[in-house]
Amino acid sequence: MSTHPDSILEIDLDAVAANWKILRARLRRGCEAAAVVKADAYGVGMAKVAPRLWRAGCRLFFVADAEEGLALRKLLPTARIAVLQGFEAAAARDFAAGRLIPVLNHLGQIAQWQKAGRGAPAMLHLDTGMSRLGLPPSEATRLVDDPSLLHRVALAGLMSHLTTAWDRSAKVNRMQLDAFRILLKSLPPAPASLASSSGIFLGPAYHFDFVRPGAALYGANPLPNHFNPMRQAIILKAKIIQTRELGKGAAIGYDGTYRMKRRGRIATLAMGYADGWLRAASNRASVGLGGRRAPIVGRISMDLITVDVTQIDPRLTRPGAYADLLDDHYGVDDFAHDAGTIAYEVLTQLGGKHHRVYRTTTHA
Ligand SMILES: *Cc1c(COP(=O)(O)O)cnc(C)c1O
Repeated sequence: MSTHPDSILEIDLDAVAANWKILRARLRRGCEAAAVVKADAYGVGMAKVAPRLWRAGCRLFFVADAEEGLALRKLLPTARIAVLQGFEAAAARDFAAGRLIPVLNHLGQIAQWQKAGRGAPAMLHLDTGMSRLGLPPSEATRLVDDPSLLHRVALAGLMSHLTTAWDRSAKVNRMQLDAFRILLKSLPPAPASLASSSGIFLGPAYHFDFVRPGAALYGANPLPNHFNPMRQAIILKAKIIQTRELGKGAAIGYDGTYRMKRRGRIATLAMGYADGWLRAASNRASVGLGGRRAPIVGRISMDLITVDVTQIDPRLTRPGAYADLLDDHYGVDDFAHDAGTIAYEVLTQLGGKHHRVYRTTTHA
């Protein structure tokens, strides 16, 4: 491990735990807060995040597939672990070994679980408008008409997923809520769940028995374009490798997409799209230096970005100094906005290339 790494990704585990508690505090009485830790906890690091959330009181975790589930089982021997992709017969051993709860998405998965699941708990995912995973209405109707299709399936949950929860004014929220309620009435009783991060903020009618937040735990704004109620959990810094003086008109980077408007200074930083610093943010995003913003100018390249530091104190822009790429003032949502994407993609693209530092002060 380098003592002076190119980039440092600092993850505040206490902030992740605090975010989980902020969400939990909003829930209607009796509603449980789970945590979604798929995709290595949105790139933040499941191995650190999940135990910290467990200490905060979280007992139900969602992962994408059985492989993630087994990895999580090693960390948390007694947590309930649900697998969003559901079940296939080839994974029967993994599900048994990891005591994993499949989220069954179609009649085929239900039938396979009936055979291989030995009566162990499973959840059902009901599609109410996402058209992605979950029983389509026709299959849900067959379940209602023929209860034998659920024999030997211990129902641990009935869930659905909202398509547009971050937009309070979207009519589809109410339509999905109504569709979900109708399905709950006709299916056998089980804990119900509709809301993820943003859905929690649609109010108690959307909370049911448990909620499944992911992105908001890691600091992403569940209410885009509104005040972010979550704490920033991530700091990203990158090292300056070279700084140069340039005259008016000098072109910078591939394709020369930026030309100096006047004489000034450009710093080149060890960070690029291979590190998750998305190329679409070229000539749009900025970095922090000593509390001031400095614009990224020219194309973001694979391992490098160029920043106009003309307005920054030269003592802060020497080779070896660090610039702030993500911090409390410019978070994952801000960078996502500049890159024309969403915080989810920014988080998951940060990947494993950065030197990681996990911060935690409390142990409860
Ligand atoms: C990813 C996912 C979640 C978490 O969603 P966030 O928007 O990150 O809170 C919840 N439920 C399902 C089915 C998911 O796929």
